[in-house]
Amino acid sequence: MSKRTVCKFGGSSVADAGQFKKIKAIVESDKNRKVIVVSAPGKRNPKETKLTDLLYSTYDLASKGLDFSTPWNLIRERYNEICNELGLENKLTEDLDSLEDKLKNHPESVTIDFLVSRGEFLCARLMAKYLGANFVDTFPLITFDDKYRIVPKTYDDIAKALSDENQLYVLPGFYGSNLRGEVKTFSRGGSDITGAILANGIDAQKYENWTDVSGMLMADPRIVENPLPIEYVSYREIRELAYSGASVLHDESIAPCRVKKIPINIRNTNRPEDAGTIIGPTPEKALRPITGVAGRKGFSMIYIEKSMMNKEVGFGRRVLAVLESEGLSYELCPSAIDSMSIVVDSKALEAVQNTVLEDITQQMRPDRIKVFPGIALIATVGHGMTNKIGVAAKLFTALADNNVNVRIIDQGSSQINIITGVDEADTEKAIRSIYTAFMN
Ligand code: ASP
Repeated sequence: MSKRTVCKFGGSSVADAGQFKKIKAIVESDKNRKVIVVSAPGKRNPKETKLTDLLYSTYDLASKGLDFSTPWNLIRERYNEICNELGLENKLTEDLDSLEDKLKNHPESVTIDFLVSRGEFLCARLMAKYLGANFVDTFPLITFDDKYRIVPKTYDDIAKALSDENQLYVLPGFYGSNLRGEVKTFSRGGSDITGAILANGIDAQKYENWTDVSGMLMADPRIVENPLPIEYVSYREIRELAYSGASVLHDESIAPCRVKKIPINIRNTNRPEDAGTIIGPTPEKALRPITGVAGRKGFSMIYIEKSMMNKEVGFGRRVLAVLESEGLSYELCPSAIDSMSIVVDSKALEAVQNTVLEDITQQMRPDRIKVFPGIALIATVGHGMTNKIGVAAKLFTALADNNVNVRIIDQGSSQINIITGVDEADTEKAIRSIYTAFMN
């Protein structure tokens, strides 16, 4: 393992010249911070549009042959301002001029992924100049196959391209290339994934993800008053929490670090003195009885009942095959002797609900099938719950004492999570009661 740390700075961390200066101070304060990944400039205030969104709007207009000057000029202004305020010679004008020319005269020659990736590309070029670092493009380094899987040679290519341990490198996040050599972006927020892949490629000692919050909290502060910060969360726990909507990190950025046990540290660019949250391997001993509680609304439950279901071999498989053929993924599937419930995202179900219900009815001949919308899933997560007697009792007593009706119960066999399905209207009450029961 190298001693190097990969640092990824998100959109708010590169939003203006002032933020660039903070990054310089952060990078210079630790000699191990050698590989820097940047997003495109984000919002400077809540009303502003992120540069990536301006690029999407530009593409939308240009590809229809419409005037794209409004978003495009804002993009130019953002970069000009950063250059001017940092006293950097503006070398981006040429790139922007030639791109503008193409968009005006040959819009078909510019793909959406290419245009949008320029947000990160230009930002990384500026940052490299400002830090006096080497700019390395991620385009030829990170290669995806047609199913968006990273091809193994990516990791060797990264190790080679960033081999000099004494050099400072700056790379753009958010994109790579496909097997045909075209620029391809990740899903939104994907610079987090770039940082994780680079950390894996150079065997980094740490992956720091710099954003505008000092890590994660044990619960949503809009719901629970002053929740405690999470100092440490395992890779497994964070997956469970992310699934319920509590994440500060793109969920696909965990796996590349997890396989090499590289700790991920969420840090705040505006408060670098804060230690933030560390995401790492399963701890020997949990710090707290639970690590976090999170909830997400917007689920529906497809309830299927059939007498002697448990004797019908392949029943579950065939039901799930119907969902698969409609491209519907499911979150949970608790079952009983003569019934099964499948919890799915309500929005995703909406489009295919009639077909799914008809197909299941035709193929499985259930005694009853019904959809219950308006469900929220609450995940209570923590290694501290494993092999502890009375955890479930405490959780359900808290819900009962606060008049929350539990619709679904699911405990993973690893015992690090208990998921409860409640009516959406009870979400906040449920989260508050569980947090208070375990933390007081
Ligand atoms: N700029 C991209 C986005 O806004 C990627 C990123 O910031 O991670 O989604």
